[in-house]
Amino acid sequence: MDPNNINGNTRLLSVKGRLFVLLVVMLLPFIIFSTYKALDINKRLEEETKTESLKIAQNVGHDIDEYIISTGEALIPIAKNENVRAQNYPKVKALLQEIVPKFPFYNVILFVDNDGNIRAAAASGAMTNSEDAKKVNVSDTVCYKKSIRSDGMAVGDFIYSRLTGIPVVHVTYPVYNFAGKRIGFIAAAFDLTKIQNKLMQTRFAQGTVISVLDDKGVVIARSNDPKKWVGKNLSHEPFYKTMLGKTSGTDTLKYPDGTTIISGFTVASKVPWFVRVCVDERLIQKEVTRELANHFALFVPLLLVALLGWLWIGRDVNRLHKMTERLTLIDPLTELWNYRKLSQNLEQELIRAKRYKEPLSFIMIDIDYFKQYNDNNGHQLGDEALRTVAEVMRSAVRDSDLVYRYGGEEMCAVMPNTDKEGATVVAERIRAKVEQSTFQGESKQPTGKLTISLGVATYPFDSISKEGLINSADVALYKAKENGRNRVETCSGNGTSYELKTASN
Ligand code: GH3
Ligand code: MG
Ligand code: MG
Repeated sequence: MDPNNINGNTRLLSVKGRLFVLLVVMLLPFIIFSTYKALDINKRLEEETKTESLKIAQNVGHDIDEYIISTGEALIPIAKNENVRAQNYPKVKALLQEIVPKFPFYNVILFVDNDGNIRAAAASGAMTNSEDAKKVNVSDTVCYKKSIRSDGMAVGDFIYSRLTGIPVVHVTYPVYNFAGKRIGFIAAAFDLTKIQNKLMQTRFAQGTVISVLDDKGVVIARSNDPKKWVGKNLSHEPFYKTMLGKTSGTDTLKYPDGTTIISGFTVASKVPWFVRVCVDERLIQKEVTRELANHFALFVPLLLVALLGWLWIGRDVNRLHKMTERLTLIDPLTELWNYRKLSQNLEQELIRAKRYKEPLSFIMIDIDYFKQYNDNNGHQLGDEALRTVAEVMRSAVRDSDLVYRYGGEEMCAVMPNTDKEGATVVAERIRAKVEQSTFQGESKQPTGKLTISLGVATYPFDSISKEGLINSADVALYKAKENGRNRVETCSGNGTSYELKTASN
């Protein structure tokens, strides 16, 4: 007998079932959540990228405006200098040479006369000598033409400087002589490599490309790969057309090679230049993947904790359930199975015996003169005696036999695949063991010993039903009492043996 024999399969199945339900219940929302999250992050990042790109474009545009304004402001005092107005060229040259190193954004300052001849020039870095400079005529340049038409500051087009070879735009300011006649202009070659360096040095998010284009669509500066791009005319590109007529904006453009570029752009206010900030959408996808990974790095451990918690609680609930169930089937005094359990088991064992055509025996015992024992020794010793008899029964039967407290001082044993002879041997062993056991106060019993009487009934000889079998064992027990107690009696056997294997074979 093993009251701890909890059906392991039930538990295993329930754990498996639980896992399955859990996977379905948690994975489905997990997948839906992941998809939603990916879309959500993607949308958010795209919006953020646009806003960020526009902000960078505006900052760069603002910087360019500052450079141009500061250049223009530097030119005004030169244009108004008396040596300049008097066209005293050696002094003009000396003045320019003194001024030019002080300004970082232009490395050449010129005095150009009304015919486009350079009359005086100074440069901050290495430059051709002034004699060469004087031979240069710039009347064919946009800068010259714009300047001649302007009463104040004018900005030319992107060119590679004829004096230094570097990419520049010229900022000009007119010069008037003391008679008020226009005699030419002062021009500063605004060094675009300075913007270029500024773009390249500024730390933008990786993969961000910033370009500055003039109003003709020529690339003036570019943060990446400037050698390849600066000076190129991109006015035919679709992105250039999207910017025309606008002062700022954002766009998403798909290119034939499959790339998608998200960008923000603005137009500088002092010069008609576009600043465009572009981000390849693949970088956003990468960021989405990274953010999703972060989400899952948090979510998966939580899921595991929930899973473990669930299994843990489930396990405890299962254990408590089994414990409670067991308590309802066990007799607390003797710790034998109780009558409820007997009813369940005997029914099942009979079905089994019928199916396998095996005999099944049932032994009923009753303590002799137990009322007297209680009266003489008190209920406590009576209970002790019950426990001892229970222990004797437990130890006298096989592992496959189950022992029960039937009620009061009556106990019984169910013995599968045991015939009447076998059961009688076991019954006799129980009887002898009880007789040999020592019980406190037993000397006051009528025979001087505490003894038991036993009745044996066997399926199918005595009965084929549960109630019939119990009844038959009871009749045999009664016979044992009748015949003097402390003995084993079997039932007379009013049934048949036709249901047994040995009989039918
Ligand atoms: P008999 O030999 O004919 O069986 O005589 P008996 O005195 O045993 O007669 P009966 O079976 O009628 O008496 C049962 C007695 O068992 C009555 C009660 O005092 C005692 N008994 C029943 N259950 C318990 C119990 O749980 N604890 C104790 N201490 N005694 C019990
Ligand atoms: Mg009794
Ligand atoms: Mg009795």
